[in-house]
Parts: sequence; structure tokens; C-alpha cells
Amino acid sequence: MTAPARTRASADLIRAEEPVLAHNYHPLPVVVARAEGTWVEDVEGRRYLDMLAGYSALNFGHRHPALIEAAHRQLDRLTLTSRAFHNDQLAGFAERLTALTGLDMVLPMNTGAEAVESGIKVARKWAYDVKGVPADRATIVVAAENFHGRTTTIVSFSTDETARTGFGPFTPGFRIVPYNDLAAIEAAIDETTAAVLLEPIQGEAGVIIPDEGYLAGVRALTERAGCLLIADEIQSGLGRTGRTLAVEHDGVVPDVLLLGKALGGGIVPVSAVVARREVLSVLHPGEHGSTFGGNPLAAAVGTAVVELLETGEYQRRAAELGVVLRGGLEQLVGRGVVGFRARGLWAGVDVDPAIGTGREISERLMREGVLVKDTHGSTIRLAPPLTITAEELESALASLEKVLGG
Ligand SMILES: *Cc1c(COP(=O)(O)O)cnc(C)c1O
Repeated sequence: MTAPARTRASADLIRAEEPVLAHNYHPLPVVVARAEGTWVEDVEGRRYLDMLAGYSALNFGHRHPALIEAAHRQLDRLTLTSRAFHNDQLAGFAERLTALTGLDMVLPMNTGAEAVESGIKVARKWAYDVKGVPADRATIVVAAENFHGRTTTIVSFSTDETARTGFGPFTPGFRIVPYNDLAAIEAAIDETTAAVLLEPIQGEAGVIIPDEGYLAGVRALTERAGCLLIADEIQSGLGRTGRTLAVEHDGVVPDVLLLGKALGGGIVPVSAVVARREVLSVLHPGEHGSTFGGNPLAAAVGTAVVELLETGEYQRRAAELGVVLRGGLEQLVGRGVVGFRARGLWAGVDVDPAIGTGREISERLMREGVLVKDTHGSTIRLAPPLTITAEELESALASLEKVLGG
């Protein structure tokens, strides 16, 4: 009898998923087996440049040595306590994260959607306890085309019909206004408004960057109206745009900041609500929680992530290489690219639909050894690890030029 093959072929593994895995994704036909830095390798040993970086969960690349070391060190000591007890990693994590963001307090959670849910709960409680909104009347103003996650409450204020259809009844209390429209936000705010919840750059929508002055305008409006500004920086934050936070480009400090994705260093899910003391102080024992939130492994990895960001190196790389990315994309406008939006190492690229859908372009790039993800229609998103080199970035741009037929 022969021993079973230790690894199965890509095609076999893809086929094996079909009957046993929920079909809520449509992955590119690549089966990744290992990765390091900017590169991933499939089951057959083919190498690909990762230009998606786990939707920014891998801002520091795959298996960054400092992050892996922090995880290993913690795995050997203590991994989980629950919040029923204190652990020796959490205080340091919260101290460093508040220092990095300039805010006062941290509510540790796990996934991005949980951070958003927690931010909504905190804003509502603040509205009742501090602002004095009558019970169960609080409203939250959000933007159309938003992406904040997949829970029932969050899809309640999505405008993406695929994300919503079949999942009602929905949570009330949200007012949806067009993005990048200050007057619409002003009109939507009234005495019941607990918060305005926005992505400083709309990632899933196609890296939509609002006009200069929009975020500062929202900040001024929310201050005047006495409601909170919640910035969902789960994708835009932690170095991606060339600053620690995307709101810094507009000189804005939110009341509540939602972080996730890269906060877990590509190793474990780590998210957080980071806020002013007056806001997070509304929570008392028993009113909110999470079994895994703030666990020592997550806190150790999160601390190591903050340490990397404290050096400023990754923000600087994103800003500098962002110039290379922008320059390369400008060369392609009119040659397969109809337009693009970019900030730091993050771009939404609209491809001429005559050349192919975003999916088709992504598949062609995969065959060239470059992994990206489409968003809507003919838009592809580029978000490489911030550890990418200029040469790697230029080779990815050359591959894009090639598949566009340039
Ligand atoms: C990814 C994302 C979320 C949800 O994060 P999950 O970890 O997938 O739950 C929320 N907001 C934004 C802006 C995101 O990009």
C-alpha cells in the first residue's frame, strides 16, 4: 500500500472544497501553501507577488520576523485567559495603541465587524447616557456604498443589494447619505444623532477618496451638532495610505476610531475600538464583551504591530512607493486603464470594460504571477504589503500593462 501523497494538487483541493465549504466566496483558482514577505507560493511551488495583502491584513507582509517572533514568544507562555482575569500583555498593548493614535482608551475585540458593532453600541450608549437622547431613539448617519462588515446590523445599513438581500429584517436607526456630500450629512443630523460613521477612504467601493476638506467638514459638523465622529480605519489605517491613519491627511481626529485587519499582523484577528475617555467610559462591567477580545496572544501580536508603526518606516514606505504606484498607473491611463484613485500603497484601478471584467483581469494577472482582487465591475484594487520593494512594484505594474495589452 502506498502512503497518501502529503500534499494534494491545486485542482484536487479546489474540487474538494465544492461540496463541503459554503460558497460565500469566489476565490481565484490559486491554492496557497506558504508565504514570506511579499511573496506567496502555491501547492505546485509557483510563486506570486501578493498585491492584495489580505485586504490590508498583511500590511507588514507575510510572516514578518518581528511579528512571528512576538507570536512565538507568547505561544510559549500564555495564549488565553478570557477577560475574567487580567493578563500581563493587555495593559501594554492598550498604552501603546492609545499613544500611537492620540486617543485615550481601547476596547479590544477580534474582527473588524465586531469593532464596528462595538462602536455602534458605544455610540448609542453615549447618546443616551451623555447626550440625553430619549431611549431607543438614537440614529447613526452612514454613507452609501459603505463597507463595514457582514453582521446583521451592519448589512442593515449597506447599500449593496447582494450583501443585504435575504438577510432581513434589519436593524433600524441608520440614515444613509451619499458619500463625499457634506450638505447631505448636515441635513441628516438632528437631535437624535449619536454619530456619523464613515470610512475616510471607501475601500471596498473601489478606493474612493473624498474631496479635500470633506472629512474636516464632517468633523466640524459633528462637533457643532454634538454628535460623535466614528472613523472606520479597519482597511485604511495602520500605514496603508502613507500615514498611520488616513484621517491624518485631513488633520482630523475622530472621537471613535475602529481598527482591525493589520492590527493582527496577519497572524491572528485583532480589532479595537479606540476612543476618547468620555465615550468609552459609558461601558460598565457586563454591558459588552468578548471571550477572545484582548487575549494575551492577540495583545502580544498587536503590541508588536504598534512597535513597527512607531518607527514610521512603514508609513514612509507607503508614501514613497505610493509615488511609484501613482506614476505607473498614470502611464497606463488611456492604455487599458480608464481612471484610478490612489493614496499611499492603495489604488482602485478602473479597467476599460472592453478589455475585461475585473475578475478576468485578476485571472490574467494571476497567470502572470501577480495576485489582486477585483471589486465592482471592471475595478481592481491594488494594496501590496508595505514591505514591497520598488522593483517588485514596478514588475507588478509591468504585468498589469501586459495583461491590458499595452
Ligand atoms: C474588512 C473591513 C471591515 C470588516 O472586517 P472583518 O474583519 O472582515 O469583519 C470593516 N470595515 C472596513 C472598512 C473593512 O475594510
